[in-house]
Amino acid sequence: MPVTQSDSSASERREALKAVFAEAKGCTRCPELAATRKTVVFGAGNANADLMFVGEAPGASEDEQGVPFVGRAGKLLSTLLEEVGLQRDDVFIANVLKCRPPGNRDPLPIEIDNCQDYLHRQVELIEPSVICTLGNFSTKLLRGDPTGITRLHGQPEVLTLGRRAVRLYPIFHPAAALYTPRMLETLREDFARLPELLAMGAPEQPPMPEPEPEAELASTPEPGDSPAPDDSAASAASRAGETNGEAAAAGSAAEPEEPDQLGLF
Ligand code: URA
Repeated sequence: MPVTQSDSSASERREALKAVFAEAKGCTRCPELAATRKTVVFGAGNANADLMFVGEAPGASEDEQGVPFVGRAGKLLSTLLEEVGLQRDDVFIANVLKCRPPGNRDPLPIEIDNCQDYLHRQVELIEPSVICTLGNFSTKLLRGDPTGITRLHGQPEVLTLGRRAVRLYPIFHPAAALYTPRMLETLREDFARLPELLAMGAPEQPPMPEPEPEAELASTPEPGDSPAPDDSAASAASRAGETNGEAAAAGSAAEPEEPDQLGLF
């Protein structure tokens, strides 16, 4: 049977995702976006989702509320999800850019480049089986190819992103379907295949990398080595495949859950 999950438990991955969110909240990699945004719209939903959506960038409503896809396009996305028996809480929704481009202009290549590391870390930590790209920007970014959505929509393909093999499923952006009934019909047809794709599970995963030799070194300190802080010992164990799910769960259970924009954790 193919391995579809890493050695990290869902709660460890969720905590790591929160840490990435905390980092993104203070991001200034794109000076113009950092100066004009109201919030960083990191993403929302189930941190252990099988299905992840990737849109383009937050608009005005998303920037106000700090949550992706809450405007008109977002309402259509929720409706289409419900039509195939899914709720927003079942999935994780993110964007190529985490900040609103002023005036809703298109994301600039440099902004996409600056922001893509957050998206890749989201994929690595959420471990989805299916990534549904909404429109051109996310499709081109994740495929690393300029072929447009009109040619690609509705055609799933297996793609390896970092260490994760996923079923990439490009579809039209819901905003494009808002005013074009023909496109809405196509979007609905493409959405209808999602349950079938999810039922296939994750594709076969690439082999896990060998543990780093430095993990062994970390467990046998040499005289003169600085003492490892507690959490770095835990992460070395985790990288070496010696995670203790119970200990991690107990550790996170001890901390009060903060409300945040990933509220469905
Ligand atoms: N369009 C997007 O691409 N993302 C959002 O979050 C909202 C609208």
